[in-house]
Amino acid sequence: MPLDSYHRDIDYLRISLTDACNLRCVYCMPENMTFRPRDELLSDAELRRLITLFGTLGFRKIRFTGGEPTLRPGLVELVRHAVNTPGITAVGLTTNGVLLDQLAQPLADAGLQTANVSIDSLDEEKFRKLTRWGNLRDVHAGLAAAARAGLRIKLNAVVCRGVNDGEDVVALARLTLNNPWQVRFIEQMPFGNNSDFQKRGMVSEAELLTVLTTAFGPLELVNGGQLDGEARLYRLPGGQGALGFISPVSAPFCAGCNRMRLTADGVLRLCLLRDNEINLLNLLRGGENDDAIATCIRQAVHEKPWGHGLAQHLIPSARGMSEIGG
Ligand code: SAM
Ligand code: SF4
Repeated sequence: MPLDSYHRDIDYLRISLTDACNLRCVYCMPENMTFRPRDELLSDAELRRLITLFGTLGFRKIRFTGGEPTLRPGLVELVRHAVNTPGITAVGLTTNGVLLDQLAQPLADAGLQTANVSIDSLDEEKFRKLTRWGNLRDVHAGLAAAARAGLRIKLNAVVCRGVNDGEDVVALARLTLNNPWQVRFIEQMPFGNNSDFQKRGMVSEAELLTVLTTAFGPLELVNGGQLDGEARLYRLPGGQGALGFISPVSAPFCAGCNRMRLTADGVLRLCLLRDNEINLLNLLRGGENDDAIATCIRQAVHEKPWGHGLAQHLIPSARGMSEIGG
């Protein structure tokens, strides 16, 4: 296992397949966002090579994300490659779900195990307001297809003050009563391109717990509060699924961080919320061999920062969330 200088096992790589998206969520990117040209992104062959290398280095888990990863034409084959990579034991996808209706079955056939689907509200109008371009019916169709294909489903909702922080949260939580899903509420994180808006909009885990206990009564803490990945889990009384709280702002989980991020343009990002980056694309296109690239990745793991600096008002400025891969 690759250990960083704080003795954390860094065995989880999130790979952004594109910075482009078919939605424009208000907390993620401006409506007039521009995207990188295709030739600045890692090719499928470069991605396969890096995935194999990360597998040999001791990485165990890969999640494809974006931008919107389902826009990448080679997604299914990249999933198949990751699933068949020696050393990789878990492969997941984070998606807005819009194209999952068509893709869920081919992805499951390629060996995909989990789909994290973003859905911030079950109300058509609010969903549109938050995603700017989204149609809730598409996501429902995607979720149904994912369930039919046997994918393990988690739902992600970013909570925005004054928009979906009341009845929407309650309606999303209610889904866990009859579905074996994890519904996770994510605190909004600030990035340089949008940070004032994001800080104003952030709703903390403590505020959400008050909303939910008022609606459902006391929630049952799962696993004694031990995090599942980055989420603290609760269960509604009698619920089949679980509620998760991902609270990087009010309750940072940096001590247990096990991940690195590979951006679509081939940069290894050492912490989501810090701008330290190592450019792997230049090494690949400069003709470096696997040993040289592996040495660089080991060094990057070693240099992974202890944690983010939000409490010290240090806000990442080089890229927004969609350019990193959440
Ligand atoms: N397009 C896919 C999606 O929306 O699921 C994958 C990429 S998106 C950047 C990954 C996750 O980041 C989503 O769950 C999204 O809601 C979340 N996200 C985007 N901007 C965020 C922000 N400023 N703070 C917290 N989460 C954010
Ligand atoms: Fe697109 Fe995901 Fe960002 Fe929404 S959160 S704009 S779906 S990348």
